[in-house]
Amino acid sequence: MQIQVKNDFNVNSLCTISRFELLRKGEKTKNAIDVEQKVKTQDSEDSNKANFLRCIKCKHPITKEADRIQINEKHQHVFANPQGHVFQIGCFARAPGCIVFGEKTSYFTWFPGYAWQTALCGLCGTLLGWAFQSKENHFFGLILDNLSK
Ligand SMILES: [Zn+2]
Repeated sequence: MQIQVKNDFNVNSLCTISRFELLRKGEKTKNAIDVEQKVKTQDSEDSNKANFLRCIKCKHPITKEADRIQINEKHQHVFANPQGHVFQIGCFARAPGCIVFGEKTSYFTWFPGYAWQTALCGLCGTLLGWAFQSKENHFFGLILDNLSK
């Protein structure tokens, strides 16, 4: 599973870009259903790990319990941004329900060696966290308060 993370992320990145284009064309509903069906198909292999974590605002499926990973030996991290807002984030190998937005930057990065982009809910656009990328690894750091089961 871990070896596939990098490839999955790349695929997801491409998907999120095209998904974002679709969103801009107003195909929100159809697109959201596509995402959910895709995730459900994958889940049928292991129904015990099929627990979605959803956008707190619109309940769009974002990621799954099974995709929780540890970065720097911890799943959960607490960080403050330059404005002093404190975020409790969890690390996830993938987040197919997110759209990744903005230019990649290392400014004020919370994980040394990783550049980041903003991760928004693919359906309603709520800020859900950030996508982090180093030369060898990719993951999502998602704001735990903005996810619900
Ligand atoms: Zn949402």
